[in-house]
Amino acid sequence: MSIFLTDNTLREGEQVAGVDFSIEEKCSIAMALDEFGVHRLDAGMPASGEKECKTIRSLLDLHLRAEVGVSCRVNTDDVAQAIELRPAAVYLITPASRRRLEHMNWDLPGMIEKARPLVLALAAERIKVHLAVEDASRAAEDDIVALVNAFGGAVDTAYLCDTVGVHLPWEAREWVRRIRARVPEPLHLGYHGHNDLGMAAGNSLAAWQGGARHVSVTVNGLGERAGNASLSTLTACLVRMELAKGLKAQRLPRLAALVETASGIPVSPLEPVVGAFAFAHASGVHAHAALQDEQAYTDLEPSLFDRQHEYPLGKKSGRYAIRALAGPAAQMAPPEALDQLLQYIKEHGKPEFKQQGKQFVAEFRGMMQSRLNLWRDVVAAIAHTSPKTRK
Ligand SMILES: [Zn+2]
Repeated sequence: MSIFLTDNTLREGEQVAGVDFSIEEKCSIAMALDEFGVHRLDAGMPASGEKECKTIRSLLDLHLRAEVGVSCRVNTDDVAQAIELRPAAVYLITPASRRRLEHMNWDLPGMIEKARPLVLALAAERIKVHLAVEDASRAAEDDIVALVNAFGGAVDTAYLCDTVGVHLPWEAREWVRRIRARVPEPLHLGYHGHNDLGMAAGNSLAAWQGGARHVSVTVNGLGERAGNASLSTLTACLVRMELAKGLKAQRLPRLAALVETASGIPVSPLEPVVGAFAFAHASGVHAHAALQDEQAYTDLEPSLFDRQHEYPLGKKSGRYAIRALAGPAAQMAPPEALDQLLQYIKEHGKPEFKQQGKQFVAEFRGMMQSRLNLWRDVVAAIAHTSPKTRK
């Protein structure tokens, strides 16, 4: 069965503290995602305000190949706003767990009855309806099935959301399989994974095995709390499974860099595929082997992702790496000179790197802490102003 990617970077990516994409940044990201080959894009929530609506209009004006949808709550005004914008699809956020329904003072039958006219109104406008079945992984399976089956043929895809990231891969697979067996075609299932246990990408693949045709991703795994399934990790798995047809995996590094700059959230150097060190062999033994057989210590072919093997020199380096890196010049150089250089590298390294690294980490921690506390001082100052002193 094919697997289709639904990108949530433009909506859920902004649920990371301090991330605020401009219209131009969102348009660039959307175009890059479209070129990459995602099937669907969630452009945002019209209910968030006029700036968001303006952005959604600009995104729709790009006339991308990907299906561009917007997210709405079960709320008449939200859906009316969405209809005015004329997206290709609406993701209707329908809570399924008792816990979430109680927060809204709803019960499941009541919520379904509220959602029904909204689903029908969207269908009448020829806007595709997808359900974002919120907190599905903590809901009763009977409730999920009742909700997903409640709208007949008016819903295209029901995304089963592991909103709080509780699934383990085998649980996700069996859970989707059981629900799939109780939901008649042609309704499609999707899976929206969260990374609280670091399992979002693995769960998404497992959910696909269980019968979810669409899986949610975000660039660099951006998303609420620990984020969502990372587009690059998932794509690397699809390449390995020979299921990446239609996806331009070579564009991943550019896409990751674009979102890294726009979000101000750096990609870890150890991030699979797009991290700076993802194809770097620093150990002398590994570099020795990899310089003779590139696949000795990597199975992924870096050129598939527009990357190459790297051989950084340092205290773990060996003679072979330094000679190989010197290339033809190594033939001309006296062997003792290269050996002396290697000895120097091993003993002295680059002490400034260590210092730079420490400084960067300290600054970065401080920056992230201030994002967590954004506006807190201002709010506290206003809250402590006594009514008498206010004018
Ligand atoms: Zn989410």
